[in-house]
Amino acid sequence: MMQVVRSKLELKKILSSQTNKSIGFVPTMGSLHEGHLALMKKARLENDFVVASVFVNPTQFGPNEDLDAYPRDETKDIELSENAKVDLLFIPSVEEIYPRKVSAQVKAVLAVDVLDGKARPGHFDGVLTVLLKLFMLVQPDRAYFGQKDAQQVAIVQNFVSDYFLPVDIRTVETVREADGLAKSSRNVNLLEEERNEAPVIHRALLAGKDRILSGCQSEQEILGAVQEVLQDVTLKLDYLALYSYPDFKPVTDFTKPMILATAVKYKKARLIDNEIVLPSGGEAECYEQ
Ligand code: AMP
Repeated sequence: MMQVVRSKLELKKILSSQTNKSIGFVPTMGSLHEGHLALMKKARLENDFVVASVFVNPTQFGPNEDLDAYPRDETKDIELSENAKVDLLFIPSVEEIYPRKVSAQVKAVLAVDVLDGKARPGHFDGVLTVLLKLFMLVQPDRAYFGQKDAQQVAIVQNFVSDYFLPVDIRTVETVREADGLAKSSRNVNLLEEERNEAPVIHRALLAGKDRILSGCQSEQEILGAVQEVLQDVTLKLDYLALYSYPDFKPVTDFTKPMILATAVKYKKARLIDNEIVLPSGGEAECYEQ
């Protein structure tokens, strides 16, 4: 039977009774879907005790972003987590996590000048802040993140490594709808016409990926191939970029791993997606799948 816990004290009490058990942790912002469930499934396979959290973290939202419109469905989250065999679901209030103004700040500085780091100033500071707090509370052996948020994975991995945080970062590939659209909690905020159009995002990335895999070494041409698929669409391109992976630098060697990433804006939802490209057919250097 899964336990639902809302306070730090109760969380601590339950965790302290799990002696000699490995702990897997899946942090989420709720409105759970199959992407989150894939993380839970992997956590379940690799750990004795699985903790998931549902917390819409206000510090990772900018002033003009969708904090208030972010979808929430606690009843469904509890049901889905229970079905995924999570042992403990932590659903803290904002006051529980941020009881007062912090006395020292966490600031992401590496790989934040591109993609979502550039488009959402301060976003990754908020992500690292809440993760540090959650890692300290849960003290997991392993924590699970989705490759859909590839820049987040890289920044979290660097943070954990730089500060010797005793947690192993594990990743899971992007889970998609049958038509290719990356699953996202924000998809429910798409209008019907937008939802019908949105699979074009992934199709466009795949067109760029194809161009790279067929040997193209011109960034302009690769991005052009993506944009060609995005003609006559209603979405607004926030960014579309190609970087080396996992260090998010301008590409100088087209035979090494790269990431083709995009963010698009619809009326009430901003969506991100990416494709990792391994031109040599090899494995991406840093992050296991
Ligand atoms: P979120 O609730 O959107 O903050 O996401 C929580 C975790 O689930 C993050 O590590 C995300 O990368 C991951 N995630 C979200 N959507 C997907 C997806 N479609 N496939 C795989 N992982 C995902």
